Amino acid sequence: MAQWFALKARHPDALLFFRMGDFYELFFADAEAAAAALDISLTARGRHRGEPIAMCGVPVHAAQAYLARLIRRGFRVAVAEQTEPARKPGPGVPKGPLSRDIVRLVTAGTLTEDELLEPGRPSLLLALAEGPARRGATRFAAPIGAAWIDVSTGLFETVSLAGPGALAELLGRLDPAEILSPEGMALGDFESRRGPSQIPPPAPAAARARLAEPFGAASLDAFGTFSDEEAMAGLVVLDYVRDSQAGQLPRLSRPSSQGNGEAGEAGRLGLDPATRASLELLRSRDGSTEHSLFACVSHTVTAPGSRMLASWIAGPITDLGRIVARQDAWSFLAGEQPCSALLRLALRGAPDIARALGRLSVGRGQPRDLGALRDGLFAAREAASVLDQPVHSLATLPVLLSRARICLDAAQALEQRLDQALAADLPARLDDGGAIAAGFDGELDAERALRDDSRRVIAALQMQYAQRFGVASLKIRHHAQLGYVIEVPVSAAAQMKTHGSVVLRQGTASSARFSTDELADLDRRIGEAAERTARRERLVFASLVAEALAQPDLPAIAEALALLDVAQSCATLAATGRWCRPTLSDDAAFCLTAARHPVVEAALTRPGRASAENRFTPNACDLSPDRRMMLLTGPNMAGKSTFLRQTALAVILAQAGLPLPADAARIGLVDRLFSRVGASDDLARGRSTFMVEMIETAAILNLAGPRSLVVVDEIGRGTSTLDGLAIAWAVLESLHGAQRCRTIFATHFHELGELAETLPGLSPHTMSVREWKGQVVFRHEVVKGVAGRSWGVHVARLAGVPEPVVRRAGRLLASLEKTRAASKPPLPLFAAAGSAVPGRDAEPDTETSTFDPSEIAALRIAMDAIEPDQLTPREALDALYRLKSIFAASHDVAVASSVDTLF
Ligand code: ADP
Repeated sequence: MAQWFALKARHPDALLFFRMGDFYELFFADAEAAAAALDISLTARGRHRGEPIAMCGVPVHAAQAYLARLIRRGFRVAVAEQTEPARKPGPGVPKGPLSRDIVRLVTAGTLTEDELLEPGRPSLLLALAEGPARRGATRFAAPIGAAWIDVSTGLFETVSLAGPGALAELLGRLDPAEILSPEGMALGDFESRRGPSQIPPPAPAAARARLAEPFGAASLDAFGTFSDEEAMAGLVVLDYVRDSQAGQLPRLSRPSSQGNGEAGEAGRLGLDPATRASLELLRSRDGSTEHSLFACVSHTVTAPGSRMLASWIAGPITDLGRIVARQDAWSFLAGEQPCSALLRLALRGAPDIARALGRLSVGRGQPRDLGALRDGLFAAREAASVLDQPVHSLATLPVLLSRARICLDAAQALEQRLDQALAADLPARLDDGGAIAAGFDGELDAERALRDDSRRVIAALQMQYAQRFGVASLKIRHHAQLGYVIEVPVSAAAQMKTHGSVVLRQGTASSARFSTDELADLDRRIGEAAERTARRERLVFASLVAEALAQPDLPAIAEALALLDVAQSCATLAATGRWCRPTLSDDAAFCLTAARHPVVEAALTRPGRASAENRFTPNACDLSPDRRMMLLTGPNMAGKSTFLRQTALAVILAQAGLPLPADAARIGLVDRLFSRVGASDDLARGRSTFMVEMIETAAILNLAGPRSLVVVDEIGRGTSTLDGLAIAWAVLESLHGAQRCRTIFATHFHELGELAETLPGLSPHTMSVREWKGQVVFRHEVVKGVAGRSWGVHVARLAGVPEPVVRRAGRLLASLEKTRAASKPPLPLFAAAGSAVPGRDAEPDTETSTFDPSEIAALRIAMDAIEPDQLTPREALDALYRLKSIFAASHDVAVASSVDTLF
């Protein structure tokens, strides 16, 4: 127990898996927690201070499955192994417990085993560090350094973020398994991934030096430009990984800085968490992967290929050159279908080189990991020969393919060597023996011959003894404690004892076990030969592992294979003739021809459901600069949200460099994409739907710009009609005049259609609906115009609302409409249309801004309250902010609160 306490003290917040022979045992509170989480029985063993010690255990051979469950439940596990072989008691053999040490800390972010990892998704450990505050344009902002490592593949990247908004976007993109962050830093939806509380981050200079050290460089500058906070986060993540692998660092790529983004991440399409949630990129809202965008576009055949495709979809880019390079790669294969098919064949079943390498580099590699390298290199050579077909030369291949081609056969020598060295049938564990092929290592062959020869000697001896002792059923068996013994039925025991050369070692109810000097000697020799064989095999294995780790091209080969897989996956889509290559440009163009929603289409045309009614109706979407804003009206169920989402997904796919489900597309690069589609109640956090809607609207108005795309559904729905209409109107005007972004604005407020007369970039569209024999028919077609009516009552009938209620609602609607028609001219609100377009760059022809007397009074009150000689610098700054906010409020028709409330 003293040993247990000492080990436990090193990782008090982890469960301690304490190796005892064939079990990992847990004690005290660890045992109680693990027994409850794993649903295994809790017993007791021994006493501590008079109390029984709670205990539970899991068998070593099944430990992976239990570990996986514990990690999924949010536990961390420290694994303590016996660090010396079990001793056979005997004279001169030391007594007391075997020495044990923690060999590994298993946490959600530091996994390497295939059983614990999802093959098609990266597994990231992310560290965050707060940097020194910098003077920003309008405020003092503390930048956040982020650094992440995928222990399973060696990826190591960093970025510097401007603040919490950018952090939320990064978390959404990376979806890290575990996060190390300073206490008090909010992680939003990722709070449950927070790792153990963190030691204070090191000083920047020390962090820079220590971060460079493991990579053999004197300074971090050798790897690019890193901010202080990136270096600090980098060291935190590196130290944690080292600690989790008992001091040993896995093979990691050099840290690579993704730069420094002001609003979000540099070079990436900005996607805030609400947008990401509404688009269901890698998972659908229910957490499954089945109805995600990824599932619709992926035709990858390898796990590394899926990981690369997933990371492209999760993090679209804004660099035109990089996007075009990706498009060129798959377009080339799409034009060379036979080549693409052969490539798919070569890649199918290619193992995961990166993850095998990861395990080998932390000393957890097994024979099959070397086998994975051998087979992966074989696949790489096959892929190379496909690309080398006579019609291709390096010069004719697009740049990404030719770069991949160059790496593919860079490790042929290693492949040959592994091919010779490894047995055809590899054991699961090195200890099982037989990993190294016969004929590869002379010394190993000799040891094996000796070991196998001893086995023949045993067989011969058994026959000899059976004759000598006159017991036909005599067997020579190996026994864990006794070694080799003669085993005979109890009935023959007396006869055996008549021979002086045998010694009775053990009797059981059915048999008796004897030994002889000869047998003891043989036992020792066989044991030694087996031990020498195993030792030699371990040595040969270790030298092969070292050779593999010393081969510098393996990560590049793994990456090249993943890229080819993604390229052939895209080419497969493009070959259907229904997915196009979008034309991207560095302007504000936006025109989709016959675009579709890939997920809704796939669901409609699923085998068994496909029919004429279930055909997906493609729609065009033109947001060219002179009609950059589309106002979309139409009833529920008419297909508005599908249209909004498919437009947003088109941008994601285009900027990920992938094909689009459309006949043609022209897209000017989008810097930030905002999608607000579908109800997103956030009641769990105590916010009303309307509050959430306004927070999300505020984010759009604060961040969108002329290069952004905004698709919003039903702004202003969560409040009274007039309130909602006023807000929707003001937001629409602002998006048109101030943000000037490309926008689709879906709404139930048909009245907003009238704004088309005063807002030149606004084009009203509606979902076409037919009434047929009293039934409403949705055509899912976007046409010019404004919806005449809402059809809500019809939809209620479709949904199964009882007929009397539907009829009563119909009558009420008719009478309400009559009253309203009588009270026209329309809402007084509209009389002022076009007279108060708010915002920064409002169009000159629509902007009028004057102060009314109450605003001047508010400013005067605020000014009078200021005593310049009495203010601290901080109070002076606050006063400035207050004055500015009065000014801003007086210019924003959407702000309903009066100036007084600001004080
Ligand atoms: P709304 O947002 O107007 O309420 P949705 O976009 O949710 O409507 O669409 C309702 C249903 O109509 C979808 O689930 C889908 O089955 C079908 N639908 C939507 N758009 C199309 C389309 N373009 N072609 C065929 N069916 C569609």
